[in-house]
Amino acid sequence: MPNTLIKIDLNTPPEHQEVIHNRWHPDLPMVAWVKPGDEFRVECVDWTGGQISNDDSANDVRDVDLTKVHYLSGPIGVEGAEPGDLLVVDILDIGTLPGSEWGFTGIFDNKNGGGFLTDHYPDARKACWDFHGIYTSSRHIPGVEFAGIMHPGLIGCLPSKSLLDTWNKRETELFNTAPERNPPLCALPYADTAHMGKMTGAAKAQAALEAARTVPPREHGGNCDIKNLTRGSKVYFPVYVSGGGLSMGDIHFSQGDGEITFCGAIEMAGWLDLRVNIIKGGVAKYGIVNPIFQPSPMEPRYLRHLIFEGISVDEKGKQYYLDPHVAYRRACLNAIEYMKKFGYTGEQAYAILGTAPVEGRISGIVDIPNACATLYLPTEIFNFDILPNANGPIPGVTGTVDLARTT
Ligand code: ZN
Repeated sequence: MPNTLIKIDLNTPPEHQEVIHNRWHPDLPMVAWVKPGDEFRVECVDWTGGQISNDDSANDVRDVDLTKVHYLSGPIGVEGAEPGDLLVVDILDIGTLPGSEWGFTGIFDNKNGGGFLTDHYPDARKACWDFHGIYTSSRHIPGVEFAGIMHPGLIGCLPSKSLLDTWNKRETELFNTAPERNPPLCALPYADTAHMGKMTGAAKAQAALEAARTVPPREHGGNCDIKNLTRGSKVYFPVYVSGGGLSMGDIHFSQGDGEITFCGAIEMAGWLDLRVNIIKGGVAKYGIVNPIFQPSPMEPRYLRHLIFEGISVDEKGKQYYLDPHVAYRRACLNAIEYMKKFGYTGEQAYAILGTAPVEGRISGIVDIPNACATLYLPTEIFNFDILPNANGPIPGVTGTVDLARTT
């Protein structure tokens, strides 16, 4: 087992741990240094820093303080890494922490986070998942069990000052086009709950005013939520500051493409084993803007799927021009309506699409006026037959089990 470079404590609030931060800023001090070729372990809290409990109430999802997320471990300095280099990160392995072999999925309240289908499912709900080795199942969603595809939802290097300024400028311009919108168009810097790792005093106060929130994916990677960035994959990150400053968190046990319920994955605390290397001048050599990666040779193997199509015509019949966002939403809604015929509530079906190893694709993007998005639902995850046949659907799920509600 590699040496544990960053150790966290699940029983201490994350804002009291110097190896954790929840904003991006070039001045964040490195919490540890490694050399090219080193292998090491990094422990991470879950993305909310322990705000969600393993129980049967969704009050914690409804009331979660989203200005605090995401809590990341790092930044880690790599000796010799300079701006313009590529940091090569092998994700050697990922696992759970002792005593924390569970995860959660939230449908977020329309007024606090929302989600991809928030107009249809506006209320907070929660599913808790138990881990059985590589498999997971939920007491809130009967009839499904599947193998995990563990990955960090969020990983990337610190931005330079000029890159940070670029982010803040373009995101402020977008926000200002509809400042009253709910959910907001983007999450701008918010100093009150900024946790800047080892920074203290006036330097921290100043940096917190402009430090970027961790919500979106950006040029450095960040919150990409790519389920295939799993153990065994190799990622090439652009470096913007001396040492790189690699940080990570938001570990998922599993996730469907799109992470559609907002925290649609199965969220967990855990650890990553990593190995780092450097390609000098790699950004220019390979024309890199955003990270690139090689997937793992090991992933869950689900061969049989039922595939749902969606086109860029919204639920009210309005025509959109080649809009993959609308098309994927319709594919998801079509899948949910189908799954409801087998006994699931809409919320259960929504949560399955967010968590199971569902493939989402842009299948057609040129056939005016309709984009075509497809959603690949693996049929082997169900313990009953979910395929269509001449006799009509036979519900595989009966009873009153449902996602946890608010009280
Ligand atoms: Zn997540």
